[in-house]
Amino acid sequence: MLVPFLDLPAQYHALQSEIDPAIKKVLETSAFILGPAVEQFEKDFAAFCGAAHCIGVNSGTSALSLLLRAHGIGAGDEVITVANTFFATLEAIVHVGATPVLVDCEETTALMNPDLLERAITKKTKAILPVHIYGQTADITAITAIAKKHGILVFEDACQAHGAREHGQVAGGLADGAAFSFYPGKNLGAYGEAGAITTNDTAVAKKIRMLRDHGSAAKYHHDAIGWNERMDGIQGAVLGVKLPHLQKWNDARRAHAKTYRSLLPKEVSAMETREGSDPVYHLFVIRTADRNALQAHLTARGIQTGIHYPIPLHLQPACSEFGWKQGDFPVTEKLAKEILSLPMFPEMTDAQIQEVCDAVASFESVRAATGGQVATMVRSA
Ligand SMILES: *Cc1c(COP(=O)(O)O)cnc(C)c1O
Repeated sequence: MLVPFLDLPAQYHALQSEIDPAIKKVLETSAFILGPAVEQFEKDFAAFCGAAHCIGVNSGTSALSLLLRAHGIGAGDEVITVANTFFATLEAIVHVGATPVLVDCEETTALMNPDLLERAITKKTKAILPVHIYGQTADITAITAIAKKHGILVFEDACQAHGAREHGQVAGGLADGAAFSFYPGKNLGAYGEAGAITTNDTAVAKKIRMLRDHGSAAKYHHDAIGWNERMDGIQGAVLGVKLPHLQKWNDARRAHAKTYRSLLPKEVSAMETREGSDPVYHLFVIRTADRNALQAHLTARGIQTGIHYPIPLHLQPACSEFGWKQGDFPVTEKLAKEILSLPMFPEMTDAQIQEVCDAVASFESVRAATGGQVATMVRSA
């Protein structure tokens, strides 16, 4: 049985009767950039997140950098984020001219370790940017307590966490502002590039609306040097159709995670859930001693997997200017060698989950029986 990593065509076909007319309406009105569909989605997504404002933009990366820019963060400032994240989190900090400072993650959750923050804070620190990695909220309570003490801001990189909850409160409304990505494979995905910022600060929301549109609040009147980072009308229409389904899709992911946990062999461990956190499983990530061989075994059986992420930020060639070295963030480095993301999407069937778990179990039992020699076996097979 083939098990894809995710199945976007299945989702489209289930929604086709709603999606096609919504796109057609944009075509017929030619509201291609911003427009009524984007405005409606902004209202609906703000309400979904429990935030006062949502501003639609053209990617999660733009959302992150606009959030920092709108708070006046730039050259000479430091922003602390976590070593275990997608590259864009760091790019956004660098794009605004600020200096990225990294802290390591926690081994059991892969989330920012709040205990390491005090040591990373300097007089130049303006904000902490935790990442709700894999769809689980970072420890916002602990992070915010430290930030308050030092008078610095906290922003959520919620690009993987649409609908995730922390003590019942939804991601996007937990801190001083949040950035979301609607990249097609995310829990809420557009049919192209899209992203959004949520905030409770009316002045910041106004500034972001201006900055995303050439620093202009009224056509051809430019109050600031801005950017072209607006959301497309078609993306607003697609997201507006999809949003009412998100809760149901997230619940399906939660149910799949539970099934995975009950069926996976004890030799592999799944990422743990923090007390008070209700993840949405953008990714279902396991840890295993012989990751590369397990991945090859699954690939050979037609099961697609991923690694999020194989090379930590601080060891990327693009980051040589920051002076980080091997050993700086040991937990992130260790996880990069052990983590494997298993197939996870709402439309997944129990039979597919069983197939994945059987394949993992067959690998682990051979590995146990041969004292860890399975790597060579798989390669020669
Ligand atoms: C996807 C993602 C981004 C970037 O979003 P884009 O829409 O691809 O620009 C940023 N941070 C994290 C953690 C992400 O997963």
